[in-house]
Amino acid sequence: MQDTELRNKNKDFIRKMKENDPTFFDELKKGQNPDYFILSCSDSRVSPSIITQMPLGRMFVHRNIANQVVNEDESFSASLYYAIKYLKVTKIIINGHTDCGGVKAASLMNDDNELQDWIIQVRTSLPHKNRLSEFSLDELTRYNIIKQIERIKEHRIYKLYGANIDVIGCLFHIESGELEIVNP
Ligand SMILES: [Zn+2]
Repeated sequence: MQDTELRNKNKDFIRKMKENDPTFFDELKKGQNPDYFILSCSDSRVSPSIITQMPLGRMFVHRNIANQVVNEDESFSASLYYAIKYLKVTKIIINGHTDCGGVKAASLMNDDNELQDWIIQVRTSLPHKNRLSEFSLDELTRYNIIKQIERIKEHRIYKLYGANIDVIGCLFHIESGELEIVNP
């Protein structure tokens, strides 16, 4: 690894983990047993295990811009299937956040060519464009989270293998650190 900051941070991480529990990595290599499947936004300020102080092994995480459930996304479907069928997670969390650049770009009709396919996807999670101005960015972000709860519940993999699993919406408040539960 060339990057000195990453290397130093990693050494520090190993030291702290071993100080706290000398057998930590021996336990970790035995396998993962997560309770949670998380669909989170990719935003660098929203790391699900950091904002909830969950240890390694407790959260199986899939991330994309604006935490979208896309039926045709094979990476998402595979993650959801693996989490439900093999890891036997007991909760599914949609983890959105305030000041979400993906929701903002979709609501402001961003026209960057390279982003269009994804922005069109995010737009399908927001109210009709004629009504967008009635909503604040926080309201649109909650709307987006609720849309993904609905989509997971309609997802082929969820219906076949996980229909009894709770799906919970969460809005991480960047400005305060609070994790707000968002219900349909
Ligand atoms: Zn975001």
